[in-house]
Amino acid sequence: MYDVIIIGGGPAGLTAGLYSGRAKLKSLIIEKGLTGGLVTTTEWVENYPGFDEGILGAELAQKMEKQATRFGVEIKQGAVSGISVNGKIKKVILDDGTELESKAIILTTGAHPRYLKVPGEDEFRGRGVSYCATCDGAFFKGEKIAVVGGGDSAVQEAIFLTKFAEKVYIIHRRDKLRSEKILQERALNNPKIEMLWDSVIERIEGENGVSKLQLKNVKTEEISSIDVQGVFIYIGYNPNTEFLAGLANLDEQNYLLTDENMATNSVGVYAAGDVRAKPLKQIATAVGDGATAAMSAEKYIEENF
Ligand code: NAP
Repeated sequence: MYDVIIIGGGPAGLTAGLYSGRAKLKSLIIEKGLTGGLVTTTEWVENYPGFDEGILGAELAQKMEKQATRFGVEIKQGAVSGISVNGKIKKVILDDGTELESKAIILTTGAHPRYLKVPGEDEFRGRGVSYCATCDGAFFKGEKIAVVGGGDSAVQEAIFLTKFAEKVYIIHRRDKLRSEKILQERALNNPKIEMLWDSVIERIEGENGVSKLQLKNVKTEEISSIDVQGVFIYIGYNPNTEFLAGLANLDEQNYLLTDENMATNSVGVYAAGDVRAKPLKQIATAVGDGATAAMSAEKYIEENF
C-alpha cells in the first residue's frame, strides 16, 4: 500500500511527488500520457522563475521529473478510471483493472483542450486542425494558418507559429485580447500576425486537409473566408474530473473545489494545479499547490494512521 497516490504527472503532480518523497512517504504518481502534462506541449516557458532566459517546456518537465524521482517517488503509466474514497484506505482503479491502495490521494489531473464544435473540426482533426502548436507547427512551414482564441495560449502559440508559417491569423470573438500585456504587444507588433477581431469560425473546409475557413463577424454578421492550411484551436480547457463523478465537490465548470490547504470535501483527498478552481492557472501556481497538497497529505497521514 502507498501512503500517497498522486493522479496526474504535470507540474502540480511532480511537485507533490517531490515534497511527499522528501517527507519519506511511499508515493506513486500515475500519469496516462507524457510526464510533464501540458507543459510538454508548450515550446518555450518564459514566466517560470529561475530560468532567466526561459526554458523549453519539454526540458522543464524533464527536470521536474528527475528532481521528483531523485527523492523516491515512483511513476507509473496508466489511465485512472475511478477512485474509491469512502473508507480510510483509498482505492485507485486503472482502466486495465489494476487496483492500487493508499492512505491519501492527490488529484493533479489538469485539463484538456476545449473543442470549437464547428463543422469540419472533427473531420480535419490531425489533417490541419490541431490543439498543439509545439507538436504540429513544423508541418506548416511557409504556409498560412489561423489560431483561434484571445487568451495566453492563443497569443503565445500564434507568436511561436510565426517561426514556421508565412502568415498567422488570430481569430478572436471580441475586439480585445485577454492575454498578458507583454504577449499582446509582441503579437500586435509581429508583421506575420494579422488580427481578425469580432470573428468566429462558422465552418472548416478542405479536401484532404484544411484549405479554407468560413468566418462570421459577430458585430456586422458579415460572412467571409480565408485560405489557410491549418487551424490551431486555443479556446481554453476543461478539467479532467469526469472519473470523479460525485466523489468531490466541483464548481459549475467542473473544476475541483478545495480549501487553502488543497483539501477537497472528501477526507484524505487533495487537489492541486489546473484541475482546481482558482483564479490563476500557471506553472508557478501549480507547483505551489502541489507542495501544499503534499504537506497536507503528510499531516493527515500522521494524524490518522
Ligand atoms: P482562456 O484564458 O480561458 O482563454 C480562452 C480564449 O478563447 C478567450 O479569449 C475566449 O474568448 C476564447 N474562447 C472561449 N470559447 C470560445 C469559443 N467557443 N469560440 C471562440 N473563442 C472562444 O484559455 P487559455 O488561453 O488556454 O489559458 C488557460 C489558462 O492557462 C489561463 O489561466 C492562462 O493564463 C494560462 N496560460 C498561461 C500562459 C502563460 O503564462 N504564458 C500560457 C498559456 C496558458 P473571450 O476572451 O471572449 O472569453
